[in-house]
Amino acid sequence: MNYSNTQVWLVGAGPGDAGLLTLRGREVLENAQVVVYDRLVGAGVLALMPESAIKVDVGKNSGTHPVPQREIENILIKYARENLRVVRLKGGDPFVFGRGGEECEALLNANINFEIVPGVTSGVAAPAYAGIPVTHRNSASSLHFITAHAKTGELPDINFDALAKLKNSTLLFYMGVETAGLVCGQLIKSGMDENTPAAVIERGTTSKQRKIISRVKDLASEIKANNIKSPAMILVGEVAGLSDSLDWRSKLKLSGVKIAVTRPKVRAGKLSRMLRDLGAEVLELPCIETEIIHDAVLPEFNNYNWLAFTSITGVEALFNLLAESARDIRELINIKISAIGKATCDALRERGLKVDYMPEVYDGESLAQGLASLINKSEKLLMLRAETGSRELNKILDLNNINYDELAVYKTKYLKLDAPDDLDMAVFTSASTVKAFKAACEDLNLNNIKSICIGKQTASEAERAGFTKIYVANKADLNSLVQAACDAR
Ligand code: SAH
Repeated sequence: MNYSNTQVWLVGAGPGDAGLLTLRGREVLENAQVVVYDRLVGAGVLALMPESAIKVDVGKNSGTHPVPQREIENILIKYARENLRVVRLKGGDPFVFGRGGEECEALLNANINFEIVPGVTSGVAAPAYAGIPVTHRNSASSLHFITAHAKTGELPDINFDALAKLKNSTLLFYMGVETAGLVCGQLIKSGMDENTPAAVIERGTTSKQRKIISRVKDLASEIKANNIKSPAMILVGEVAGLSDSLDWRSKLKLSGVKIAVTRPKVRAGKLSRMLRDLGAEVLELPCIETEIIHDAVLPEFNNYNWLAFTSITGVEALFNLLAESARDIRELINIKISAIGKATCDALRERGLKVDYMPEVYDGESLAQGLASLINKSEKLLMLRAETGSRELNKILDLNNINYDELAVYKTKYLKLDAPDDLDMAVFTSASTVKAFKAACEDLNLNNIKSICIGKQTASEAERAGFTKIYVANKADLNSLVQAACDAR
């Protein structure tokens, strides 16, 4: 049921970096039933589209030509009339050279209600990521957004005389890569000092950002010489001269790196944030999902002396299953508890359970070795784990004649995903994420992607999958994993 009258949301996706999508934009996007998106929407934002949504890419249409504007409007109207929540996702801000106004008029004519969610426009964000403040008290007291899009090789009607006379201003030319020569020529012809600082920022805010700082007279030739392509922002004004000293972005350890985080969505947040803090462009591409096995039957715990958990999901599953069968943790009163590593340990601690044993090295092998030395002949162990858990553990327990049972409390499902072909790295926090990634991305050349693995088992799986550049964290925790990504750089 649609509880609101709104049928279409025009959402600004920001300039590329998913972190620049607004809170409202994200909220609306995550609840969309249909998403109609453009070529310039960043991959990290696209990754936030709900799996169940109908996705319409209007940025390309049988090859490289975009879907014509009228047809896009008809697509919006068609889905809105089917009473679906439609999000129209546009690069930057929908009303800054985004034809958002035209789409609103078309919706209005069709009697369809809409909401506008403004976005961070590339004219402000791309310079910011290049260390250029678009206004500055000393050198820029106004800024001007100008389209330099040439319809048939000719510039639009721009009042170059007025622009050239402005003092203390910043000019931002959108869609100007092709026409930079004409634009700069006209500015100089109209009286602008040819040595006025100028800049071009290509694919601003993404890991592939490039910037060139120059002067109005040389900008066009620099654009050619460096093979700058659209999308790129052209900036003319004194503030361009601040870029080198204020460039904060290129100092970050992972700037310029596009990295996929493959762990399940609910667990990805912290790792993604840590990588973003270091300047990486992070794509959350969860390739597995865990599902509790609701008909798993928990045994009588007093038949056991030890419990072992190999993941946070195992802990969550235990508490879910206890609740579903109207039982509670007092049954665990005499049982010792072991956990594979710190995160699992913390998950137990949060639920009021103290861990009696955790190995130094956070992996299945070390957990099994440790337990083998702690559990005596009269004791019995219960492992609560995934349906397809690693057999390494069992081998070691068997070898040491440990009496144990295992209960599968959750299963892992592979998800489909759309990985871009310009990924630099992928982070794997388990062997199962490697397997799932490999299965989902058959077409990717894994030789080009550095694989950052949490531990030995994950790394061997990466090798089996065909990765050749493999980096392993010193310790199985997020800090060490992030460090491994920095080392891989
Ligand atoms: N609505 C968008 C602009 C669409 S017009 C906005 O508010 O940003 C398309 C032009 O925007 C491109 O030709 C380029 O000049 C600029 N642009 C979009 N994304 C950009 C990016 N990541 N870096 C630099 N320029 C970008």
